[in-house]
Amino acid sequence: MDLSNLDKVLEGEPKYRLKQAEEAIFKNFISDWSEATFFAKDLRDKLNKECPLKIEADVLVAKKEDSVKAKITLKDGLQVETVLMKHEDGRNTVCVSSQVGCPLGCLFCATGRMGFKRNLTPDEIIEQVIFFNRYIKNLKLKIKNYVTNVTFMGMGEPFLNYENVLKSIRILNDKEYFNIGARSISVSTSGIVEGIEKFSKENLQVNLAISLHAPNDKLRRELMPIDKKYPLDVLLKAVNKYIKKTNRQVMFEYVLIKDVNDSDDCAEELSKIMGKKLYYVNLILYNATHSTGSGQAGIFKPSTTSRIEKFKAILKKNKIIFSQRYRFGDDIQAACGQFETNR
Ligand code: SAH
Ligand code: SF4
Repeated sequence: MDLSNLDKVLEGEPKYRLKQAEEAIFKNFISDWSEATFFAKDLRDKLNKECPLKIEADVLVAKKEDSVKAKITLKDGLQVETVLMKHEDGRNTVCVSSQVGCPLGCLFCATGRMGFKRNLTPDEIIEQVIFFNRYIKNLKLKIKNYVTNVTFMGMGEPFLNYENVLKSIRILNDKEYFNIGARSISVSTSGIVEGIEKFSKENLQVNLAISLHAPNDKLRRELMPIDKKYPLDVLLKAVNKYIKKTNRQVMFEYVLIKDVNDSDDCAEELSKIMGKKLYYVNLILYNATHSTGSGQAGIFKPSTTSRIEKFKAILKKNKIIFSQRYRFGDDIQAACGQFETNR
């Protein structure tokens, strides 16, 4: 899909034509301009040539059919992954990518191992949601609702592509089009402090999640090199300021990795830094990543069930508010941190 020429093609037309075109793309989710029968045939043909709507994608459906992964090929041939997750309560969440690859190289993350290719444009971020709305529209899944929730938890670090991510959020939020409520949008960051500071001033009701994954700097910087730039005290100070300003809950993501960050001591230490007002912890099962690319693939394993239970018991004893994330799509490499493309 390429909408960069849309304004130009419709330049000579009455103003409402652009609105009609946008409605067709962002509200009715047409896949080809031939469906836009309110335009003359010549114009439809021109639009198809100069503003193609086709989205190139390879699709994989999970065995349980509760999640679908799409690998979308962008204009320049690079690829990004995005996942649709179907919740039992009727919500349909799309996990979008914000960059091709990621420059931050967290040891446990498949995207991190790809290195960084480039930022996505707002159109390329939105395209991922449009793709699944078309998919739902064409009834390839037994789903009634269009996409109801969007999380920026796919490939890339959203706060290193701040402006484009914010632009895409505003479009997703637009009542006339996608109408996805700000409260149904979440942004996850590995802890880019400038991003958190800016985000707190946006006056948006969008949810913020922080990838924590370790209760102290020594371990955290082994796993997440970004901790050297923004140590925990600096990060948590920024989060506290965000909470003070917005009065919104913040989710701290903690991936449980066997014998790395899942000990009793880690749980106790985590309890000491969490447990503040409007903090809550989201425990994530470590998802094995493919061993392509360079480096650390395969060295980590998920924590055992009994270890997880013990870890949770300690958090509970310390009155820490936490939840455990449901695992979608691990058979299609669509779970957290498994996103990786070779182009
Ligand atoms: N770059 C952002 C957002 C994308 S990652 C961030 O790091 O927050 C989305 C979440 O998946 C993050 O919490 C990330 O740490 C986690 N994740 C990465 N690799 C994972 C893996 N192998 N198993 C489980 N979760 C993983
Ligand atoms: Fe980048 Fe997030 Fe993966 Fe770290 S966990 S490498 S920040 S995508």
